[in-house]
Amino acid sequence: MIKIGKPRIEPNGNSLTRLVSDIFVDGEKKTVWAEVDNRYKDYLCDERSDAFVIGILHYAMKNNHDIICEAPMGESLYYQITTYLIDSFSKANPRMYAIRLEADVDEEELPCGSGVGTGISCGIDSLHVLASHTNTKMKKHNITHLTFFNVGSHGEGERATQLFEARKQQAKAFSQEYGFDFVEVNSNIMDMFQQEHFVTHTFTSMFAVFVLQKLYATYYYASSHSFFEFSVRNMSTISPGYGELLVLDMFSTENLRLYSEGGTLSRLEKTQEVSKYAPSYKYLNVCTMTATNCGRCEKCTRTLLALDILGRLDYYNAMFDIDYYKRHKQQYLKTLVAKCITHNDTYLEMYPYLKKQITLFTYISSIPVVFKEWAILHIPSGGFKDFLKKMYQVGKRKV
Ligand SMILES: [Zn+2]
Repeated sequence: MIKIGKPRIEPNGNSLTRLVSDIFVDGEKKTVWAEVDNRYKDYLCDERSDAFVIGILHYAMKNNHDIICEAPMGESLYYQITTYLIDSFSKANPRMYAIRLEADVDEEELPCGSGVGTGISCGIDSLHVLASHTNTKMKKHNITHLTFFNVGSHGEGERATQLFEARKQQAKAFSQEYGFDFVEVNSNIMDMFQQEHFVTHTFTSMFAVFVLQKLYATYYYASSHSFFEFSVRNMSTISPGYGELLVLDMFSTENLRLYSEGGTLSRLEKTQEVSKYAPSYKYLNVCTMTATNCGRCEKCTRTLLALDILGRLDYYNAMFDIDYYKRHKQQYLKTLVAKCITHNDTYLEMYPYLKKQITLFTYISSIPVVFKEWAILHIPSGGFKDFLKKMYQVGKRKV
């Protein structure tokens, strides 16, 4: 049983304010907080349990906990979660429990700002939201606020902390240069409720949105999967991105409309739109390894190949080592071949545009990479997998 205490607002030093709730898990107290700059403190929502329910809903279903809330929930949110979301998740996923959610309902509309928000990571998905929702004739849909959440996506350890700070500075600089309000939400929710960010990111990110639900009228969450991949199966182990069409609709209310943005497009199509968005020439950052684009990791590789197909490489001289890419093209194509053989849609989409450039030697030398990809996809995690990965490092591309 999880009991969510009534949220309260507390100052933290001179410039920060927290929304706090004492949450009891089988009697054990876990104090969860989310922290914002004081200029957003009036938008913190302490009237309702909404944010905290959303933040731990996946955890509760996976760990067999009913939830009782001391503060009410918004009527629509309560209705949608209890009528549709819990039922569909539990029926499609035997490992997710059909929890009982108890809360009074508040049918009143909250005071609501007109903010239009989206997260700013400067990756392809994030910049696609901006490219598509800036200076359009649909004024209520143009982005006003760029958000940066610390709810688990930045990993752990010193390297993660450095990456987090570097990305935050980049996000702030982007917001300043292009005239958006910057909203940082820092939280300990992932310390209190340890979950794999990969399988809960939609829930923990929406926690950070609902902490300030009185600020936004619209929020775009950059989709990581296409709508045609929609499924709510295996939600206990795979990315919630597959089920986002349902999840974000069930979390939308009269005050706040959530969109899974970009779900109609493939990665190559998104990259094409981003490559016409001038701020991306200075800010595109897709790398998972270093604060600037390393040019060699998987995300850098697929982005460089896409920009090459689109004829836009030279626009990104400030963000990538384009000369290095051109000199080592066959190494990148080796990754393309291996990813295609292991049925990666992102690379399969690019293959027809590049196949004439792939040499016989590249096909042959991609064999060790194919084995590595296959091992990652098909061998359960553990020692043997790590051993295999190390073995195939020998044949790994050197780009
Ligand atoms: Zn990289």
